[in-house]
Amino acid sequence: MGWNSLDDMDLAGKRVLTRVDINVPMENGQVTDATRIERIVPTIKDIRAKGGSPVLLAHFGRPKGKPNPEMSLQPLIPALEDAFGCPVTFVERPSRDFIDAQPSDAVILVENTRFTPMEEANDPQMAQFLASLGDVFCNDAFSAAHRAHASTTGVAHLLPNCAGRLMQAELEALEAALSNPKRPVGAVVGGAKVSTKLDLLQNLVKKIDVLVIGGGMANTFIAAQGADLGASLQEADLHDTARDIMAAADAAGCTVILPTDGRVATEFKAGADHDIIALGQDTKLAADQMVLDAGDDAAETIARSFDGLETLIWNGPLGAFEIAPFDTATVTAAKAAAALTRAGKLVTVAGGGDTVAALNQAGVADDFTYISTAGGAFLEWMEGKELPGVAALTR
Ligand code: AMP
Repeated sequence: MGWNSLDDMDLAGKRVLTRVDINVPMENGQVTDATRIERIVPTIKDIRAKGGSPVLLAHFGRPKGKPNPEMSLQPLIPALEDAFGCPVTFVERPSRDFIDAQPSDAVILVENTRFTPMEEANDPQMAQFLASLGDVFCNDAFSAAHRAHASTTGVAHLLPNCAGRLMQAELEALEAALSNPKRPVGAVVGGAKVSTKLDLLQNLVKKIDVLVIGGGMANTFIAAQGADLGASLQEADLHDTARDIMAAADAAGCTVILPTDGRVATEFKAGADHDIIALGQDTKLAADQMVLDAGDDAAETIARSFDGLETLIWNGPLGAFEIAPFDTATVTAAKAAAALTRAGKLVTVAGGGDTVAALNQAGVADDFTYISTAGGAFLEWMEGKELPGVAALTR
């Protein structure tokens, strides 16, 4: 791999500029979900165990290049101290003198990097300034790695650098799933729209053996074959694109599985009356009917398709999983993937957008081999794009 991990670095007595993602949800000044904070704990602990002092760089919200007290990182201090088990010193306007005046094992948090437009512009002066604050750069923010900003790429070019533990885990899991997977490899791609996942589908069909398409985006594929899916979520302007993707899959030897039946209702609400209806090119739904989930046969076929795989990538739900019973297919398939993972037969890597919520709902999040907390960066990786924050890490 082209990057260093913390194991490769001598950090004794060093100030370690550490880019983290602590963009956690807050309500009334309290952190409501500390997952992102918990995930950087190993990096903070390992830097300190190696004699280094972490100087944390992070963004929070979208302040659009201007200081905004509502998006200050200062209110996160108690949650960070809780998670790290040590004091955290906040600094609004950092300088090397201030940092050098702190104890050699201090954890220092610098104010929101996005309070200046220079961050998102990847301004070389800001990168130089950030580099002056540390001796080593550690990037632990995989979820921000698809952005070339001063604190993600600019500074990486100016200091000896490495991946933090979370970045390392993300990169190792994603490389195991897509760059160098055990075959056969399959993917579940679900969610609302084909249009947001075009690049992803086009890249995947070239690289994988089985592609399961579910959710609203499956409607577009089924309608492209000639079905009339009534009021279902679909993108009528993408029928040609859907056919192109099917042809590309065929040419690449990738088997595509589309739902052969669907859970159909006329209302989009919990517990709505519904029928299971066969889906195919001749299907004709009434004008007010919607396919809101894959049906039971489809869920079974999808679950069984995992049996022959060694590796499974998962992005997006198979239906409108937020509303029961339209979570049924997602839950059935996710449980099957989880059981194979527990049995040591399948490597399962999931991520992006609503995927984490859907797998949590299925109660399987702990059983998957790896669940990425990154949204956009996970998708861009799956699309085969180079992530600037990763590319900037060098050995
Ligand atoms: P995405 O952000 O593209 O992964 O899409 C996730 C969203 O797609 C979730 O909010 C689901 O409720 C929604 N979704 C999935 N399948 C359907 C469907 N058949 N009809 C309507 N919405 C759906």
